[in-house]
Amino acid sequence: MSTPEPLVGGASDPAELLLRDVRALDPREQLDSRLDVLIRGGLIAELGEAGSLTAPDGAETIDGHGRLVLLPAFFDPHVHLRTPGQEHKEDLETGTRAAAAGGYAGVLAMPNTDPVVDSAPLLGSLREAATRQARIPVGFLAAITRGLEGEMLSEMAELTGAGALGFSDDGRPVASAGTLRKALQYQRLCGGVLALHEEDPTLSRGGAMNEGAVSAALGIAGIPTVAESTMVARDAALAGYEDGRVHFMHLSCAGSVQSVAAAKADEIRVSAEVAPHHLLLTDEDVRTLDTRMKMHPPLTAESDRQALIEGLRSGVIDCVATDHAPHAREEKEVPFEQAPMGTTGLETAFAALHTGLVLPGILGLGLLVERMTAGAGLFGLPVSRIAAGAPANLVLVDLDARWVAGEHGWESRSENCCFAGRELQGRVLVTLAAGSVAHRDRMLTMVEA
Ligand SMILES: [Zn+2]
Ligand SMILES: [Zn+2]
Repeated sequence: MSTPEPLVGGASDPAELLLRDVRALDPREQLDSRLDVLIRGGLIAELGEAGSLTAPDGAETIDGHGRLVLLPAFFDPHVHLRTPGQEHKEDLETGTRAAAAGGYAGVLAMPNTDPVVDSAPLLGSLREAATRQARIPVGFLAAITRGLEGEMLSEMAELTGAGALGFSDDGRPVASAGTLRKALQYQRLCGGVLALHEEDPTLSRGGAMNEGAVSAALGIAGIPTVAESTMVARDAALAGYEDGRVHFMHLSCAGSVQSVAAAKADEIRVSAEVAPHHLLLTDEDVRTLDTRMKMHPPLTAESDRQALIEGLRSGVIDCVATDHAPHAREEKEVPFEQAPMGTTGLETAFAALHTGLVLPGILGLGLLVERMTAGAGLFGLPVSRIAAGAPANLVLVDLDARWVAGEHGWESRSENCCFAGRELQGRVLVTLAAGSVAHRDRMLTMVEA
């Protein structure tokens, strides 16, 4: 049986494009120079000194005037595309359009849909639909346990054969250590990363926000950070014992960063991600009871936020993932405690992190780009890069452009973005994914004029 393509979908008209005089920045290639970048047939055909290349007949030229910045396109290993079953929140087309607008050339979709992606036929039909509908390439994870019920394992080997890139019960933890241990034993036979949503339900049950001074002041039941960190420690120990490979999703607190650091020091095969909202917001932002500030795991304390930033900087946390979690307006327009958890994030991730961490000098731009692209490698996929011969997975950004998040609407079907209304600096102008132009921003013409 042939191995299925890991990612499916994306436009199929290979770009013919000259990006003239752009600042090309790729930390993995030790590249940061003003260049002309010629794209032919969807591949990076040639890199030349600024002003040295000419566009062949029929190719479009975009002039960066030495000011626009070309980066390897981002990769998000954790998004919710809500298909099948919840297309009123998002679908394969709108979700990947949002990703393209955010500068992403690939995303991994979570299986907590309705029905849950826990069988090979369902995964097959989803991949088939994505081939037709997705604006950028998408990969799919399948459930660790049937129906996300935390008991019987899914047919992991069969799902791997059908194209699952890994397994996750995201939305819920694998509460039973015994079940996770069995999944780690199966992983040895069938491969695929186990991506874990870490939460001890006996500690988190009933909570709607982070437990601390703010939850006490608001009188809202809290979720203690140990609900996450104790599970990270447990599962790192299990992964070490079974020599498995686990990926910790959306870390939200200092204790979890410490556990991941300890596991890595012990050479246990773990990786971790952090979401922009946990890097930029805290439970103080929940005081307004804006339901867009309600996520899973919740926004935590400033000391946790600082530990997450340091973890991302040092590499204990490998990558940024948005955990893009769309919900319809009427679902979020209810009292805080009843609202579903989740924020959208694909369209704001780069600009929000550039504004909140790069501009104040907390993280370098190169490091942010490294962490926004690294997710692909964690799942065994090629990481985008700016090099002659590589497929064009590129994003052109204007680091000076200021815009108000959500002011002109969203590409996503949902608008529950925690950064809505904030002024951000840094704008994605063009995204090339797998060699095709996947997004072209309305601000591009203004820049070129
Ligand atoms: Zn989760
Ligand atoms: Zn999630």
